[in-house]
Amino acid sequence: MTTDGSGYSGVFVPEEISHVSAQLFKNLIGGRWVTARTGKTFLNVNPARKDDIVGEFQASGPEDVNDAVAAAAEAFKTWRLTPAPQRGEILNRTGQVLRDRKEQYARDMTREMGKVLAETRGDVQEAIDCAFYMAGEGRRLFGHTTPSELRNKFAMCVRMPVGVCGMITPWNFPMAIPSWKLLAALICGNTCVIKPAQDTPLSTFNLVQALVDAGLPAGVVNIVTGSGSQVGAPLVEHAGVAAISFTGSSEVGRQVGMSAAGHYKPCSLEMGGKNAMIVMEDANLDLALDGALWGSFGTTGQRCTATSRIIVHRAVAKEFTEKLVARAKALKVGDGLDESVQMGPQVNHSQIETSAKYCEIAKNEGAKILTGGHALRDGAYANGHFFEATVVGGVKPGMRIAQEEVFGPVVSVLECADFDEAIEIANGIPFGLSTAIYTRDVNQAFRAVRDLEAGITYVNAPTIGAEVHLPFGGVKQTGNGHREGGIGALEFFTTWKSVYVDYSDKLQRAQIDTEE
Ligand code: NAD
Repeated sequence: MTTDGSGYSGVFVPEEISHVSAQLFKNLIGGRWVTARTGKTFLNVNPARKDDIVGEFQASGPEDVNDAVAAAAEAFKTWRLTPAPQRGEILNRTGQVLRDRKEQYARDMTREMGKVLAETRGDVQEAIDCAFYMAGEGRRLFGHTTPSELRNKFAMCVRMPVGVCGMITPWNFPMAIPSWKLLAALICGNTCVIKPAQDTPLSTFNLVQALVDAGLPAGVVNIVTGSGSQVGAPLVEHAGVAAISFTGSSEVGRQVGMSAAGHYKPCSLEMGGKNAMIVMEDANLDLALDGALWGSFGTTGQRCTATSRIIVHRAVAKEFTEKLVARAKALKVGDGLDESVQMGPQVNHSQIETSAKYCEIAKNEGAKILTGGHALRDGAYANGHFFEATVVGGVKPGMRIAQEEVFGPVVSVLECADFDEAIEIANGIPFGLSTAIYTRDVNQAFRAVRDLEAGITYVNAPTIGAEVHLPFGGVKQTGNGHREGGIGALEFFTTWKSVYVDYSDKLQRAQIDTEE
């Protein structure tokens, strides 16, 4: 989690850098690139090479939020009246622009966030998929008709835009997550103010640049960069913001949700996870190992859907764990821009400290670090935020390492005696985002789909790998009932209007004149 309640600590600025000359990025407000009224900036630093400054961004404040909301409110007057198919045309062109720039944007993202190129290409691809999917919604946005209880009366329900939407995003999917929010909001006719995470603002700029180049009118999307306290919180509280869409930690999400509730504002919260993969005794173990490795160490374990608990049937636990440890040890860790690297750095210094802290907690609770457990600091690693791929064994369900989100390359292995115990362990946490089961038994597979308390369940696939046209989100402390992706997103970014058209030429009273 980025603890940026009081300032700009979300971005690690190395001490040796006292003066920089990096590319300066400004806020986008009302179609103009402008500096923050605060006069302050912060640095975006490559987590694999601390001396590589990706860019200098505006450390904005509440006044900048005011300006952006005013611009979005002005733009809403015309954007809401732009026919949805025309809005879709702009999103369609955005998808094409993103496709043309995919490689450059992926490289920018690896540089600012650290994950390997194959994954940042996937992150940009998700935005492309989302653009084309939401472009198609421009010709659907289905409402429904239904019979009236009265004669000569027509009843229908239509989707209306919500207004100015405020968006607050995390650093781990710095283009995909903003795309889920922005593109869904835009097709519905809303205008937006987005505050990206301080560690990764460039990828949001790239997405918005693609929208601008595809012909998005001025003021429809506005970017204000800065900290959670100086930009995020004022955005949530702003009277001109009709709805808030937040993705981040459960702790910050709770604050955002409480603040939005105080202003009677719809608020979508997508938060943390502690995702379980169950490996039954009949599983294809090699397939499960591939899934465990990808689920646990993809994005250096920094996915909300990352596999952080592997619940293995006792009969295969020894063999599975030994093979998992061997494969984790063999992973090549390094700069994600090197195509041969399999796991990049963590996003900042505080994240490797969190990983190290949880390894200590696990040991003190009686668990055993089977491999990894340390930050990598020697040689080429000295210049970045690297952590070993870590497998923790002997973990019991109640331990903190089995209950709390680490958000790093640290996976726990727990043993179970049978299917029922596996489900009980999987469900025995405060989160409910993603789950997976490896089994060849179709009955067990379907029971798991039914019984796992989570927004997503995979069968014979790891806990990561969501596709944009299916609803995405979770239960318990992972979410507050909304979904991103697919038509789930349209539910949040539109409000229903029920329309009654009486063509009887007389007063007809509902519930009273129904007998005639
Ligand atoms: P975070 O909660 O620290 O920050 C998220 C965003 O909130 C950032 O832009 C931050 O600046 C802002 N913020 C911080 N304090 C704020 C405040 N008081 N008011 C308003 N905004 C504020 O999370 P992070 O470290 O950026 O991301 C990691 C977390 O995100 C993990 O917990 C992960 O599980 C979660 N996540 C969830 C999903 C999902 O869809 N469920 C997806 C990705 C990440």
